[in-house]
Amino acid sequence: TVRTRVAPSPTGDPHVGTAYIALFNLAFARQHGGQFILRIEDTDQARSTEDSEKTILDSLRWLGLEWDEGPDVGGQHGPYRQSERKDVYIEHVEKLLASGHAFKCYRTPEELDTLRNQRQEQGQHTALKPSDLELAADEQARREAEGAPFVVRMRVPEEGVCVVNDMLRGPIELDWAQVDAQILLKSDGMPTYHLANVVDDHLMQITHVIRGEEWISSAPKHALLYQYFGWDMPVLCHMPLLRNPDKSKLSKRKNPTSILFYERMGFMPEALLNYLARMGWSMPDESEKFSREQMFEHFDISRVSLGGPVFDVEKLRWLNSLWLRELDVTQFVQRFAQWGFDQQRVEALIPHLLPRVEVFSDVAPLAGHFLSGMPVLSAADFEHKAFDEESLLETLQFGLWQLEAIRHWDKSEIETRLFALAKLQELKVRDFLFPFFMAIAGTSQTISVLDTMALLGPDISRARIRHAID
Ligand code: ATP
Ligand code: GLU
Repeated sequence: TVRTRVAPSPTGDPHVGTAYIALFNLAFARQHGGQFILRIEDTDQARSTEDSEKTILDSLRWLGLEWDEGPDVGGQHGPYRQSERKDVYIEHVEKLLASGHAFKCYRTPEELDTLRNQRQEQGQHTALKPSDLELAADEQARREAEGAPFVVRMRVPEEGVCVVNDMLRGPIELDWAQVDAQILLKSDGMPTYHLANVVDDHLMQITHVIRGEEWISSAPKHALLYQYFGWDMPVLCHMPLLRNPDKSKLSKRKNPTSILFYERMGFMPEALLNYLARMGWSMPDESEKFSREQMFEHFDISRVSLGGPVFDVEKLRWLNSLWLRELDVTQFVQRFAQWGFDQQRVEALIPHLLPRVEVFSDVAPLAGHFLSGMPVLSAADFEHKAFDEESLLETLQFGLWQLEAIRHWDKSEIETRLFALAKLQELKVRDFLFPFFMAIAGTSQTISVLDTMALLGPDISRARIRHAID
């Protein structure tokens, strides 16, 4: 049976690219009566968080993507979280060491730098090969006896051509000379993506790996690992990456990439999923609006086109309008209430409003921006004695950069960063915050803009500041 998977790393916001890849894996599995698995690739312990894992799972579910096996639903091939599978990876690394397909590398970071610099000076490829890295036997033994830290690396060919087959592209030729002696096990005993991914795909009996094209260059390493282990390799299919309207790779600097943003802006999950299905794919009759079930019924992966699909928020809005207008009044009211008056969100907001309202009709002028998208603003709205046009833009831009760097979004983090910037710019906090009030709330006569940002979340907040700068 066909088994596919999506394997997100829980290191940030739930990316629309993750949903796009999940959708095509799910469609392929459903079309073949197979199974779709969700695996969490959290081997990067410094960057992985439980929070991020939870929002990724919630967001995929919100979109109507469901998995047959995964960390939350279980299954016969678990655990489905890589951090819980360390022993499995160690065991497999031992096998590669025993067969001589991997080696312990005791090189220090300084030595690695020197090696890379030497190669660069000689104008050679910078890929480091086993022959560059291996120490003389006595030196290796000395460091081993010392208990020096080491990593385990894989042996890779020095030269020649590696051919990997791709379902959409046919054979792809890659040059071994550019492939380095990949680290498989880090000095802390954690596996790298490459080892964990191959071992898990095999043990979880994945038959088709459908993933973003950014992974094509990793395919030779994976192919070699399958060969070293004596396993069959799953069929590979590399999907074209989503692009900004200017054709560059979709990036959060230019376009919101978090599913949470689209949810908060009031997009319908059906419409977003429909739009993602149209990224590089089309229905046989070229219809624009179709449901998940209709997609699965007509799915054919060979209809994926490789030209970079453009993720265009304006087109998505238009598609969403088709879905929205199909709701009858009762459904509309229900969906709107669910979206706008979500119990938890409203409960978080009320304490901030209470000191400022006398009657219910005071709420909308104070908190209307919690229910709207981008405020409508003109240059005149930003006029303030503390700023000229240049310093205004500078303040918003520097503020945005500070906010983009926040990993854990909460009020105190927002406050610390913005207040530090205010000090740096020698502005009174009150004055400094004015443009942020305007960008975020469209008025300064409302609750604290720091609280507002904390409540709205990073995506909407950053998008509004970006909108104000533009
Ligand atoms: P960065 O801004 O550092 O490049 P990113 O935008 O690529 O980050 P990641 O957190 O690295 O975001 O990726 C999250 C997931 O989304 C990954 O599984 C990745 O494959 C996928 N992804 C990222 N960008 C795209 C894209 N343009 N098209 C399709 N999938 C993408
Ligand atoms: N963890 C990888 C990612 O975040 C998975 C890549 C793959 O599907 O092999 O995209």
